[in-house]
Amino acid sequence: MRKLTLLALVAALTSTLVIAVTPAAADEGFEFTYFPHEGIDVDFTNDWGRPRDGGERTHKGTDVFSPKLTPIVAVADGFITMMGKGDRPGYQVRIRHANGWQTWYFHLNNDTPGTDNNRGGPDSAFAEGLEEGMFVEAGTVIGYVGDSGNAEPTPPHTHFELHRGGKAINPYYHLRDAWRRQQRVYRLFNSLELD
Ligand SMILES: [Zn+2]
Repeated sequence: MRKLTLLALVAALTSTLVIAVTPAAADEGFEFTYFPHEGIDVDFTNDWGRPRDGGERTHKGTDVFSPKLTPIVAVADGFITMMGKGDRPGYQVRIRHANGWQTWYFHLNNDTPGTDNNRGGPDSAFAEGLEEGMFVEAGTVIGYVGDSGNAEPTPPHTHFELHRGGKAINPYYHLRDAWRRQQRVYRLFNSLELD
């Protein structure tokens, strides 16, 4: 009950905020309606460009840390262009949004609950009923936080990428703005409930 109410409030407030900022944000071209992880147990920094694999490549996204199995949601309306598994990304979802923007979500869960056994199949990674080509609204749960692919030795997180025109763009500022909006909603909700 509490969850439903909160989600309704988040949806109502975020849509209001998005409408309110649309003229100013139009040049930026893309505003996240939702932060990609549900809940408030979230940690991320501007880790774009950090060395990876001993400096052979750099980090092309933002790592968003949350407890394993935290629901991951679509940050904006879009079509699922890929749901699959790769060596480095592990279980991944890619979504194409309006105006050529894309968001990628890597390292979805590959463990059975309460373990780190790598024995969870696609059902442990992806939300039920999703398939490639499907339209998802902003806020739709697409999968669950984990450590699949080359994230096995790290704490559970989603490696989040933002792309446009075949190029990766630092998603940190989009994430930070969405997180700030979401925190305002949570604070408001909690203050309402204290009475
Ligand atoms: Zn990463």
